[in-house]
Amino acid sequence: MADQNELEKQAEQVKKVSKTGLLPCPFCGSIELSGITIPVPRADEKEKKFHFIQCEHCFCTGPNRFEMKEARHLWQTRAEEA
Ligand SMILES: [Zn+2]
Repeated sequence: MADQNELEKQAEQVKKVSKTGLLPCPFCGSIELSGITIPVPRADEKEKKFHFIQCEHCFCTGPNRFEMKEARHLWQTRAEEA
């Protein structure tokens, strides 16, 4: 039964997803996701930082926001739509 492997793979994925709390990449389905933080490249916004979620597999990124919470939320929304 080929389907059995597929089910096990999915179960494994759900387990990993629940660890990071993020849905799999909408483009490649990878659950190797990282939260990236970069400083805003503007002198007048020194205190601000961008946060976004990046897929470690295909290197696509989610929308960036000043709050990681918001960036994560947007990633989830995007992954659900795909
Ligand atoms: Zn990906």
